[in-house]
Amino acid sequence: MKERGREKWSRFCPKCGKKTDELFDSLCKECFTKEIRLIDVEKFGIRVCVCENCGGYFKGKGKERTSIEEAVVDSVRKEIRKRYGCECKVEVAELGKEIKADENKASVFLDVKAEMEGVKIEESGEIEVIFKKETCDRCSKIAGGYYEGIVQIRAEDRIPTDEELAIAEELAYSLLGEADFVSEERMLKEGLDIYVSSMECGRRISRWIVNKLGGSFSESRKLYGRKDGRNIYRVSFSVRLPGFEEGALVEIEDKVLSVEKVIKGKGIECVDMNTGQRVFLKKKETKKAKRV
Ligand SMILES: [Zn+2]
Ligand SMILES: [Zn+2]
Repeated sequence: MKERGREKWSRFCPKCGKKTDELFDSLCKECFTKEIRLIDVEKFGIRVCVCENCGGYFKGKGKERTSIEEAVVDSVRKEIRKRYGCECKVEVAELGKEIKADENKASVFLDVKAEMEGVKIEESGEIEVIFKKETCDRCSKIAGGYYEGIVQIRAEDRIPTDEELAIAEELAYSLLGEADFVSEERMLKEGLDIYVSSMECGRRISRWIVNKLGGSFSESRKLYGRKDGRNIYRVSFSVRLPGFEEGALVEIEDKVLSVEKVIKGKGIECVDMNTGQRVFLKKKETKKAKRV
């Protein structure tokens, strides 16, 4: 169609006055690009908490564990989206970092690519991270002897062997999650109590002990208090390793006995390995006997 005298409707960039067909956010491509700051050192001011005790990095209210790089990349991405809209594509690559321990600061070098209104923009630069010294959740809990679960390792009608307890203890430590810890261990006449930081962790440990050493476990929970509007429970995990089996050797008061017959609820019939004498151990007595 002929446009009577005019070539075409032309538009002008209000900033530089250049004639253009394409406007991005009402500016020409050059002016639009010039306005955008992907890495704005002044505006960022990223703060990360550092635990004075374990040296771990944390951020936010929930004190989530993080790394310096992760915290920076995350903040940069959020800030760009906040400023230029969440529909723009942002890619942040971390190129390196430098920690100035005495100044409680770090510099992180970044390369940021973003796409806005169909225009690709890339910027490289440095962002400063300021450390705030604090004690992390985990460390303050450890210091306060915090626990949510007790794994109580016992055996049916007998005392667990040192070997069984060593295996159980090793399992407990190997099954701790990143935030978990053992706050206390109590060696008792009848077995071992392991105090752990979370219920899930206690359950996991109990399940694996039973898996490895046999027997079963049960749970009982007690209301301990309230935190942030929810009930806090402490759970006891009662692990019962299997009792004596026929043919096993047991030790009691310097005597070594061979188990001949297990009479459930009553006791065990044994033979003294030194004298050949038959001995009957009542249920009460078997509790003092150790498997060898
Ligand atoms: Zn312009
Ligand atoms: Zn810590």
